[in-house]
Amino acid sequence: MKTTGKVTGIVSNLVTVEVNGPVAENELCYITLGETRLLAEVIKVKGKNASVQVFESTRGLKNGDSVEFEGRMLEVTLGPGLMSSVYDGLQNNLATMESVFLQRGEYTSPLDHEKLWDFTPLAKAGDKVKAADWLGEVKEGWLPHKIMVPFSFKGEYTVKSVAEAGQYNIDCTIAVLASETGEEVPVTMVQKWPVKVAVKAYKEKPRPNRIMETGVRVLDTLDPIAEGGTGFIPGPFGCGKTVLQHAIAKQGDADVIVMAACGERANEVVEIFTEFPELIDPHTGRHLMERTTIICNTSNMPVAAREASVYTAMTICEYYRAMGLKCLLLADSTSRWAQALREMSNRMEELPGADAFPVDLSSIISNFYARAGMVVLNNGSTGAVTFIGTVSPSGGNLKEPVTESTKKAARCFYALEQNRADQKRYPAVNPIDSYSKYLEYPEIREYLDEKVEKGWVDKVNLAKNIIRQGRDAAEQINILGDDGVPISYHETFWKSELLDFVFLQQDAFDAVDSLCPMERQKYMLNLILDICGRSFDFKDFEECRNFFKELINDLRQMNYTEFHSAEFGKYQAQLSKLLEENGK
Ligand code: ADP
Ligand code: MG
Repeated sequence: MKTTGKVTGIVSNLVTVEVNGPVAENELCYITLGETRLLAEVIKVKGKNASVQVFESTRGLKNGDSVEFEGRMLEVTLGPGLMSSVYDGLQNNLATMESVFLQRGEYTSPLDHEKLWDFTPLAKAGDKVKAADWLGEVKEGWLPHKIMVPFSFKGEYTVKSVAEAGQYNIDCTIAVLASETGEEVPVTMVQKWPVKVAVKAYKEKPRPNRIMETGVRVLDTLDPIAEGGTGFIPGPFGCGKTVLQHAIAKQGDADVIVMAACGERANEVVEIFTEFPELIDPHTGRHLMERTTIICNTSNMPVAAREASVYTAMTICEYYRAMGLKCLLLADSTSRWAQALREMSNRMEELPGADAFPVDLSSIISNFYARAGMVVLNNGSTGAVTFIGTVSPSGGNLKEPVTESTKKAARCFYALEQNRADQKRYPAVNPIDSYSKYLEYPEIREYLDEKVEKGWVDKVNLAKNIIRQGRDAAEQINILGDDGVPISYHETFWKSELLDFVFLQQDAFDAVDSLCPMERQKYMLNLILDICGRSFDFKDFEECRNFFKELINDLRQMNYTEFHSAEFGKYQAQLSKLLEENGK
């Protein structure tokens, strides 16, 4: 029998319910409001009282209204058809809707039940299988979508039968498994999983050992993120967080992309809606949406739905990772998620932590980031979830709790700087404060030695040093004046400007410049380091400035030229001539 209850208090989306039976934290319930039923989640139980967060507006709700508990947690429905879908945080299908906004109490089916999928069996009768093992495969676009033993299955099963190759919808039985006690269970193409529980159906989770290329030079060369790694992009409003994240989504070397647009302004979310379906995947020439799922919650949706969206997105990634695919999860902005946590915690009148965020904010964020990673599956294949979240610290203050907590959890830090954004030096990633801890991993250094060139990380450090020395020189020039410092200071400064203008800056909106493959990044960095390694004998700072200005202008043209075109060689010849005339 289901536990029921009565509403005894309402504070915005937080409702207290007196219950007549057992309820658990994270359990779902429905509150009856006239003709509709509002979905809610239990966040705290104290004796006979449960605090529940309602995923919708509680307008019109009153004390005494009846509540029915579901005995299950908030789950995501997993199966073929997730790709190219647009959902809200509760996995309502928004693409089929007239507008981004659902009516209250309206819940839609996440997957198409009619569509037929071309099924190919991978397992056979007699096989021993366990949770997440592959039973068969369908083609979802060009993705090999594995139909797996549901993650919730415990222990070993014996395959009794598998459907023959053919066309099936997601509800057809595609295999029958027998448990250790001989009980026979049918398996379809769909399974459900509670979003707040990490999927642990894999053999091991080793340290990431390779780089996920994004085509963005400041990331890939200076502070690369590992495949299965974690990173975050803090930055004040308007500094380019969303543009950078979209560049990563479009260009990142991943099979599957899940974008969680969390609590941003409605018009920004509508932009994703209209922009993404148009995008062409630079790696395959097909529509990017074929391998993308978008989960969105605008800032005018209730906070609880916002909190659910990041978990729903992560669970979808874990599902595809179990198929041996590389998944990229992008969340914009995780600050809105943290604010949702804060609002609920304040309404419950919990003892607040720093800036009124919940005391356990740090562990909530760490636990979430810990769900990313590379895994070795039971069959030896590997899969990965790489996670990058943006953080929008109020007033750009990097000492606020969400940024600080995220810094502890994420291994890459891409600090966007107001100053650089104001100067239109995009992407405004601060090259000195930002870091990637993956560069310290011996296995990553080895990977880069092999993949890019021997000693690559030393070159990267050399480049960072040029920037650092350039900043110091600029400071001295500022204080002492152009004539008050030796000419060598100007040379140091201009070398760092060369690196900045030609390498760090990158136009996300230019067809050629936006995506810079690693081979080209290597070529460019070597070229710039070669120039920076020379010493020039300028007679005065003006000569130095003019020389570098001309050089920067010339070299910047290269960024808009296809790497393998004849034009590209022309710039090189020009450069050699210029260096010959001035070099020593
Ligand atoms: P945020 O999400 O941090 O508020 P946006 O990503 O919306 O900021 O960026 C604000 C504006 O900055 C963009 O509309 C664009 O004009 C500019 N911009 C940001 N990054 C780049 C880039 N890499 N190349 C060119 N313009 C950029
Ligand atoms: Mg933004």
